[in-house]
Amino acid sequence: MRTAVVVGAGIGGIAAAGALARTGWQVTLLERDDRLRPGRGALVLWPNGVRALRGLGLAGGLDGIATPVPPVGIRRPDGQWLVRPAAAAGEDVESPPVVVHREDLHDAFIAGLSDQVDIRNAIDVQPARVRRDRPAVGDGRSTFEADLVVAADGVQSAVRRRLAPATTFTSAGFAAWRAVIPWYRIPDLPPGLPPHGETLDGAHRFAFASLGERGSSGGSTRGGISWVATVPGALRPEPPAGQLALLRRWFAGWHAPIPQLLAATEPDDLVQDPIGELAPLPETFGVRAGAGGYALVGDAAHAMPHHLAQGACLALEDVATLQAVLTNVPGPLGPALDEYSRLRRPRVARVLQQTRKASAVLQPRGGFTSRAMGAALGRANPRVLDRAAAAAAEWAGPASS
Ligand SMILES: Cc1cc2nc3c(=O)[nH]c(=O)nc-3n(C[C@H](O)[C@H](O)[C@H](O)COP(=O)(O)OP(=O)(O)OC[C@H]3O[C@@H](n4cnc5c(N)ncnc54)[C@H](O)[C@@H]3O)c2cc1C
Repeated sequence: MRTAVVVGAGIGGIAAAGALARTGWQVTLLERDDRLRPGRGALVLWPNGVRALRGLGLAGGLDGIATPVPPVGIRRPDGQWLVRPAAAAGEDVESPPVVVHREDLHDAFIAGLSDQVDIRNAIDVQPARVRRDRPAVGDGRSTFEADLVVAADGVQSAVRRRLAPATTFTSAGFAAWRAVIPWYRIPDLPPGLPPHGETLDGAHRFAFASLGERGSSGGSTRGGISWVATVPGALRPEPPAGQLALLRRWFAGWHAPIPQLLAATEPDDLVQDPIGELAPLPETFGVRAGAGGYALVGDAAHAMPHHLAQGACLALEDVATLQAVLTNVPGPLGPALDEYSRLRRPRVARVLQQTRKASAVLQPRGGFTSRAMGAALGRANPRVLDRAAAAAAEWAGPASS
């Protein structure tokens, strides 16, 4: 039986562990945290992410937990349109993205793990314990060897730091906060507000989406409203209550429901993230070692700013592709890992390019005034963002990466 060690139990790692185990591999899943925890907040899954889930046999897990988010346009802080929604502009909107609570998605993935997965918590893999001559990793106390090591250990990946040391995280000059206000704390909002929206001034960005009320999205008991706020600058050192006070000040006077949502948010709801990208991309996402090797997956391979909300979708594409190239490989894994990288790296580079285009329009370095922002969006063609999003979401399946 083939063996795999998966490092990191985020979306990419749990999906990879389940995918390999369901195709007959013996899998060990290593996580540095003391238990498997779902990420906080919510995720938008674009059609490519949903297609990848379908390829992994997990799309059924979205039943009852996914809420569609058709294009809704972009507003200025005073509520005026910067970009009208595609549907209002007379365009067809097929297969809109969906929003899911990360806890719901985590549960769906856990349900997809088979008993072929041995889960080891509190294992903090160290770069110096990643072997180049054979697929083996360790934390200084134990060593884990297998035919394949899947590096799904996120943006600061210890495995990538050893295998692709030239690749580092480069800040985009922004920090982001995300939160879900649970359904039982949702504030009274003015009637007629759309269930999701996005608002920009030239530097700050606020996006929100309803996850539905309890029971209204079927099996999920985690309805509520999810929001993401992005602002220029580095991570804030204040405790969460201080960060929340700053957010309320930065977005004071913005149109409804933004101040109301921030007022209903509690410090413990907040998650703060640095925004940036891995540069340069690792030369290869598949690294041969002995008769086996390593596969880089998700943020460990290609973390990028969240402007097109594609990071988790790409991680799922990675896993669907990895599963496809590894099916029924009789001999050494090298050729399959080369094929994995051949399929994935150009696709990721294209999405990164679209993300940079979107970032340049949505949150340029140095910022814009609101008026310059409107002019810039007008000049750049208001559909530039729709086109970037559509290009990123174009992915037909593992063979077409
Ligand atoms: C504000 C924001 C909004 C976003 N919105 C979206 C969205 O709407 N849609 C979308 O598709 N993407 C979105 N993303 C991107 C998405 O969150 C990430 O791309 C995705 O979560 C990456 O998953 P991952 O499994 O690769 O990494 P992670 O989720 O970072 O998981 C890595 C795991 O590895 C573990 N680990 C780390 N180091 C070690 C080690 N040395 N040893 C053992 N374990 C280790 C960690 O504890 C963690 O469990 C967003 C990102 C941000 C910042």
